[in-house]
Amino acid sequence: MTNYNSYQPVIGLEIHLQLATQSKAFCADDASFGGEPNTHVSAISLGHPGTLPRLNKKQVEYAVRLGLALGSEINLVNCFDRKNYFYTDLPKGYQITQDKLPVCVGGSLEIRVDGERRKIRLHHLHIEEDAGKSIHDQDPKNSLIDLNRAGVPLLEIVTEPDLHSAEEVDAFMTAMRQLARYLGISDGNMQEGSMRCDVNVSVRKKGQTTLGERCEIKNMNSMRFARQAIEYEVKRQVDILESGGEVVRETMNFNPATGLTTPMRDKESAHDYRYFPDPDLPPVSLTPAFVEEVRAQLPALPNALFEKFTTEFQLSEYDAGLLTAERETATFFIELAKKTPAHKAAANLVINKISPYLSETNTTLEAFPVPADQLAEFIQLIEGGKVSASMAYQRLFPAMVEKPGQPVLKLAESLHLLQSSDAKFLEKLVDEVLEKNPEKVAEYKKGKKGLIGFFMGEVMKASKGKAGPKAANEVILRKLA
Ligand code: ADP
Ligand code: MG
Repeated sequence: MTNYNSYQPVIGLEIHLQLATQSKAFCADDASFGGEPNTHVSAISLGHPGTLPRLNKKQVEYAVRLGLALGSEINLVNCFDRKNYFYTDLPKGYQITQDKLPVCVGGSLEIRVDGERRKIRLHHLHIEEDAGKSIHDQDPKNSLIDLNRAGVPLLEIVTEPDLHSAEEVDAFMTAMRQLARYLGISDGNMQEGSMRCDVNVSVRKKGQTTLGERCEIKNMNSMRFARQAIEYEVKRQVDILESGGEVVRETMNFNPATGLTTPMRDKESAHDYRYFPDPDLPPVSLTPAFVEEVRAQLPALPNALFEKFTTEFQLSEYDAGLLTAERETATFFIELAKKTPAHKAAANLVINKISPYLSETNTTLEAFPVPADQLAEFIQLIEGGKVSASMAYQRLFPAMVEKPGQPVLKLAESLHLLQSSDAKFLEKLVDEVLEKNPEKVAEYKKGKKGLIGFFMGEVMKASKGKAGPKAANEVILRKLA
């Protein structure tokens, strides 16, 4: 039996993030996803001779934004290089990228896995352009090419080899996607290819400090496949080492149909890109003032909000994770939390009622009609025992969404949902219930204290949900004493 546990997987990622600019990296073509094939193109993205690239300022700003959010150092002077290779979806014969002097260096992103927090260090971030798309599965005889994507701006994020499991990779990709969305620089949508990654995997004996030889799995565009690929690749490498062999450095493809990683053909993986500075693009020169301006516009970041939600608001990590997943939700919750001290009840309302409501009605938080003040009033009615939580969620909430302008207390009144803590009303109900159930009363008095639940249920039923549970409980205890 192979002892896989005595090995540690070591993983480094190269993430490609498509930046949400309107136009492409070096020309004015539409950069949005989709469109009829080969309609978002021009002489420049088609690589016609004699055309000249011109840098899209927005992508530099987006790169700096992410770099600052990750604590990277910004290179005020950074340069573009040509990465030369031949492929049919790369009409120029080279890709414009940053090799020697990338826009950002260093930085880190914290992830949480199984309650443990780890800082994953970044090597650097660089700007580059995407290639077109070759389509091999639509025509039985021919490969098709769509150049809409050629020249779309990408940010490549290269991590240090700090990750040690498929779960950590998943958490890292999720955190990076979340951050990109908070910053408004990319939707991070893996299905549409706005976020993809190359996964470098090696293994070593636990306790060993040097790195083992690695393989690189190219172009993962789904987290599920990335996890499968990593798990398979780790096992494959351990098996090689355990049988006395050596891991050979290779570039691999993952085949989702078989669940296997297989080496790419030599021609595809033989890398001699002959990088050299692009003579058509002068170095980018940023002023410190520009960088400070970008920094000043950064929103509150997800990890900081998570911290605030778990400490200041005392929410569970689970709730805080859900509420900070998207920036809109976090902002919405903060506004609500300003209006009510009942933070846990507010979290429940957002997570268990408002979010499902939004997905059922296919609306966004921005279009949600009920203002924070009224939601706070709604929470107060439950917390103060005026309306039972179930009645509030089932009946009052829909009414409030229907008539967002109305005072919530009035709505509850008109729906006859107000619970009564009025002593006379409750005493009468309790007396009736006790009279109807003499045997149960006798059993209770003999020590079967669990029957309190039964009496409560009966009183609530008799009151049609209008008895305040706390007050009713007190009256029952008093009468039975
Ligand atoms: P290359 O020059 O081949 O692109 P880099 O040094 O730039 O290699 O590293 C590329 C990626 O591979 C980085 O994410 C890095 O963390 C990762 N990496 C490097 N060495 C290893 C290793 N031994 N095991 C796992 N990942 C590694
Ligand atoms: Mg590299």
